[in-house]
Amino acid sequence: LFVTFEGGDGVGKTTQAALLEEWLTTEGMTVVRTREPGGTDVGRLIRDIVLHHRGEVAPRAEALLYAADRAHHVETVVRPALARGDIVIQDRYLDSSVAYQGAGRVLGRDEVRDLSVWATGGLLPDLTVLLDLDPDDARRRLDADDKPFDRLESEQDEFHVRVRAEFLALAAAEPERFLVLDAARSADELAAEVRGRVSLVIGS
Ligand code: C5P
Ligand code: MG
Repeated sequence: LFVTFEGGDGVGKTTQAALLEEWLTTEGMTVVRTREPGGTDVGRLIRDIVLHHRGEVAPRAEALLYAADRAHHVETVVRPALARGDIVIQDRYLDSSVAYQGAGRVLGRDEVRDLSVWATGGLLPDLTVLLDLDPDDARRRLDADDKPFDRLESEQDEFHVRVRAEFLALAAAEPERFLVLDAARSADELAAEVRGRVSLVIGS
């Protein structure tokens, strides 16, 4: 079972991924919780480039770096874990590239998606939880938690508006794969919704 969490910066993906891992582990399942970019040693080098040289890397080069991180991560971590029968819970995957590089950087949805499909050998999640939140609310939340804005501070507001709209469009295009949740709700409520949907997917 391959579950991914998607959404803009500061929506609570990492929190929800951790809560799902905790629950599945207490249910006796073996879970691999991982993230992109930077889920491997090679990927951490790539993460360093894309995050610390943001704005300097040409948009197509940036898209290729995310795809390279993803290709290596899928090959060395995700596929082996799925082959063992483990549950993989992942913070961001190819939908982030379509939203950030495709819509945010305006490279185009289909091109960026095709690149990721090639990079991963076509591996798609069984379930993708999209945590949807207004970018202004996300910014306020990061501020309140005293977390760095990172991306939210360094990009224009329209960038985040485009990213959010693209995530919602992706979810609308694949309603069976996506669970869309209003990330303004409490972490406990959201976690309960996620558990409910994961139970259904495991049961089917
Ligand atoms: O999810 P995480 O906080 O680790 O992401 C790090 C940064 O990378 C975020 O600021 C996010 O906006 C950016 N990112 C991106 N394109 C992706 C994935 C992440 O610009 N495909
Ligand atoms: Mg996070």
